[in-house]
Amino acid sequence: MTPRVVCLCGSMRFEREIRAVAIDESLSGAIVLLPLVNLNHPHQAWGSPLRDIDGIKADLDRLHLAKIDQADEVIVVCPGGYIGDSTAREIAYAHQQGKPVRHHRVVSRVPDVLDRIADLVPACPPPDIAQGYDPCPCGRGQSWPCSLTRAAWLARGLDVHDEIRAACQVAANKWPMTSEEGVR
Ligand SMILES: [Zn+2]
Repeated sequence: MTPRVVCLCGSMRFEREIRAVAIDESLSGAIVLLPLVNLNHPHQAWGSPLRDIDGIKADLDRLHLAKIDQADEVIVVCPGGYIGDSTAREIAYAHQQGKPVRHHRVVSRVPDVLDRIADLVPACPPPDIAQGYDPCPCGRGQSWPCSLTRAAWLARGLDVHDEIRAACQVAANKWPMTSEEGVR
């Protein structure tokens, strides 16, 4: 009998949980398709954290939809029920293609060295972005996010671009008139 093919979906912040599910599925005899590129990990293809990686991200998202096309079943890996934008799009696509979708909540996360670092390294809160390029509030003389904040996000598996975008969004909601005020 041909092995069934499963495609795993989920945020790469859950890379370890995704791999754990991939191992379980492989042991139960399935061919496993899964996301393999974590843009938070350093790699020569993207290098500097400030380089625009939206294009790479879009290509990877498209590639993942093609993996869903190949699958008999889609498994969503969502510890704590967290589902990001890309994953939500993938679930919608899978439904649209008539693929069965199963949610795998992965009850407990195995603590490892990254979790221990995440507990030790604090992330600095964003400065008042709307008022200009403030230095990081920790006073290290670096602009936000400082290297320590980036390390904290990395250990937590958070995406640096998502975090910066979210902070800008909060600032925009807080000071909706700022750009006009700047002109006066
Ligand atoms: Zn800082």
